Amino acid sequence: EINFFFPKQQTLAVIKPDAMEEHKEEILEAIRGRGFSVTQLKETELSREIAEEFYKEHKGKPFFSQLVDFMCRGPCAMLVLTKENAVEEWRTMMGPTDPEKAKETSPQSLRARFAADILHNSVHGSSNEQHAREKIYFIFGDIGTPTELNSCKETDQ
Ligand code: ADP
Ligand code: MG
Repeated sequence: EINFFFPKQQTLAVIKPDAMEEHKEEILEAIRGRGFSVTQLKETELSREIAEEFYKEHKGKPFFSQLVDFMCRGPCAMLVLTKENAVEEWRTMMGPTDPEKAKETSPQSLRARFAADILHNSVHGSSNEQHAREKIYFIFGDIGTPTELNSCKETDQ
């Protein structure tokens, strides 16, 4: 009997209020079509306080209050995505922050397809594993990391 172990990773993804209105189902289909497992999913309207805490790394930037207003203007879908190399793969799937750039460099990306501008850019994804862990804990609490999420065990027949 031979066991193969494929290390898995989790990232936090958000479908932002601009995309919830018309593109939620298409984005979820695209996510599953790329082989991500949606291991947590919660639709919620963020309070200002939660949105400010969620984006605390950007406090002090000129767009911070616009960003918080935008994130609170309607429901968001918060997702935990699980896959090998999930953090980087989800960032690639989103495309660059600015959809104008995304249209040039990665026209298949979600931001190229759905985003209106650099603020209203449809999706969020953690930028590294540490942030992913922090934000998953912040949104979902201690969901644990069961061993089946860390490694996918396949048994040779
Ligand atoms: P990303 O979401 O690609 O990681 P950042 O972490 O730099 O991008 O910014 C967080 C969010 O703040 C962006 O997704 C976008 O909604 C908003 N944002 C970033 N830069 C700007 C900007 N120059 N003007 C307006 N909004 C911005
Ligand atoms: Mg970021």
